[in-house]
Amino acid sequence: MSQYDVLVIGAGPGGYVAAIRCAQLGLKTACIDSMVTAGGKPTLGGTCLNVGCIPSKALLDSSHYYEHLTRHVAEHGIKVSGASIDVATMMKRKDKVVQTLTLGVASLLKKNKVDTLAGHARFVDSSEVEVVSAGGASQRVSAGRFIIATGSVPAKIASAPVDDRRIVDSTGALCFDAVPARLGVIGAGVIGLELGSVWRRLGAQVTVLEALDTFLAPVDRTIAEEAFKLLTKQGLDIRLGARVTGTRQGAEGVAVGFEWQGASQELQFDRLIVAVGRKPNTQGLNVEAAGVQLDPRGFIVVDSDCRTAQAHIYAVGDVVRGPMLAHKASEEGVAVAERIAGQRPHVDFNHVPWVMYTWPEIAWVGKNEAELRAEGRDVRIGQFPFMANGRAKGMGETSGMVKMIADAATDRLLGVHILGANASELIAEATLAMAFDASSEDLALTVHAHPTLAEAMHEAALAVSQRAIHF
Ligand code: FAD
Ligand code: AMP
Repeated sequence: MSQYDVLVIGAGPGGYVAAIRCAQLGLKTACIDSMVTAGGKPTLGGTCLNVGCIPSKALLDSSHYYEHLTRHVAEHGIKVSGASIDVATMMKRKDKVVQTLTLGVASLLKKNKVDTLAGHARFVDSSEVEVVSAGGASQRVSAGRFIIATGSVPAKIASAPVDDRRIVDSTGALCFDAVPARLGVIGAGVIGLELGSVWRRLGAQVTVLEALDTFLAPVDRTIAEEAFKLLTKQGLDIRLGARVTGTRQGAEGVAVGFEWQGASQELQFDRLIVAVGRKPNTQGLNVEAAGVQLDPRGFIVVDSDCRTAQAHIYAVGDVVRGPMLAHKASEEGVAVAERIAGQRPHVDFNHVPWVMYTWPEIAWVGKNEAELRAEGRDVRIGQFPFMANGRAKGMGETSGMVKMIADAATDRLLGVHILGANASELIAEATLAMAFDASSEDLALTVHAHPTLAEAMHEAALAVSQRAIHF
C-alpha cells in the first residue's frame, strides 16, 4: 500500500493546485481523479477545465467573434458576405483548448513530482482510501493528511430529467453538434445565461425560464436591470417568475410546461438546457467512514480554515460552503497546503471577484447597494457610463457602467460593480484596491492610461465625491 504525506481527492482547480503547492512545500503528495474524456481516457483539471469555465469561455469567444462579424463590423466599413458557422470546427477548437490545458495540468503535476492516480476514491476509514480505476482495478492508499476537492455536479429537477439527447445539462450544452432552431434554458443564472448567449449568437431562438421574479438576484440592481435590458434586446427571451412544471418529448421536440403570469403555458423546443444550479459532489466517497460530516444540503462541513471535524482531513472548493468559483477553490487549496506545512495563510473571502461572461460582461467584488443599505450602512455611490469613455466609443462598446460604492464616513470601498466590455479584466483593479482597504480617493489619485476602459474605473471613483470630469 502506498503511503503519502498528503492525498488530494479531485484534480479540479481546488485539488490540483493544492497538490502542486503541497509538493512545492516538500510533502509527498498524490492526487486522485476519476474524470474521463468522452473517449474514456483519464483527464485532469476537473469540471473547470473539462466541462466548465474553459470550454464555456472558448465557445463564448467563438460565438462572440461570429456575432461581431455578422452584426457589428459593418459599421467599421468592413463588408462581409457569406459568413457561416461551422459548429464541428468550433467544437474541435474548444476540445483542443481543453486538451492543451488538461495535458498542461498533467505535466505540472509531473514536474512537481505529484503522483496522479486515475480512479474513484472511497474512504475506507479516516487514514485510508480505496481507489478503483475505470477498468475496475482497485488499490488502497493511505496518508497522514487528506484534502477533499471533489467539486460539484449539475443540480437536477424532476420536471425536466436530463436524457443527454434533447434535454441536457451544462456539459451536454457544450457539445451540441448543430445550432438548435429553438432552444429552451431552465435557469437564468450565470451558466444558463452564458450558454444561452452562445447559442443565441449562433442563430438559435433562445427562451430562458427562470423561477424567481428577480433577475440575477445576487447582482447589484442597477447592473442587473441594465443587463436585463441589454440581453433581452440582443434576443434572449427571458421569462421571470416562470416555474417549470413538466416536460414531454415527442416528434416535434420537447414540450416544456410552466406556470407563468398566473397561467399554465407550454413551449416547444428542439433542445433544452437544464441550468438550475450545482450541488456538492460526495457521491461514493463514503465520507462517513472517515468521520467527516455533511450539512443538510450535502456540503462537507468545514471551518474557516477548510478543516473538517477530523483535524487531518480538509475540504476545499465547490464541495464546501462559499461561492462555486474556480479561483475560490484554488485559493483555498493553496491555503490548506500551506497550513499543512505549518504556515499561517489567509484567504480573503470578502474580496472574491465574480464574473459573468455574457456580453457585455458583468463583474463585481464586495457588497452590492441593497446589501449595504440593509446593513444600515451610510454609503456614497459613484457611477460612470461607458458611453462617456473614449476608448469604449472607439471600440463601439458603449453599453454599461461602473458603479463604485464607498463608506460615507471613511470613503473605504465597499463594492465595485461593472457591466461592460472586458469587465472580467477591469474587476482586478477593484479587487486589488479593496484587498488593500483602498478608499475611492486612492483610486481617484491613481493615474490611469488614456484611452482605456479602465478610465471608467477612475471616473467612477471621482464620481463618488461628485467630481467626475467626463460625465
Ligand atoms: P471540480 O472542478 O468540480 O473538480 C472536482 C474533481 O474531482 C472532478 O474532476 C471529479 O471527477 C473529481 N472527483 C469527484 N469525486 C471523486 C472521487 N470520489 N474520487 C476521485 N475523483 C473524484 N467558475 C469560475 O470561477 N469561472 C467561470 O467562468 C466558470 N464557468 C463555469 C462554467 C460552467 C459550464 C460550469 C459547469 C462551471 C463553471 N465554473 C466557473 C465553476 C467552476 O467550474 C467550479 O467552481 C470549479 O471547477 C470548482 O473546482 P473544484 O476543484 O472544487 O471541483
Ligand atoms: P445558478 O445557481 O447561478 O446556476 O442559477 C440557477 C438558476 O436556476 C437560479 O436563478 C434558480 O432560481 C433557477 N431555477 C432553479 N430551479 C428552477 C426551476 N424549476 N424552473 C426555473 N428556474 C429554476
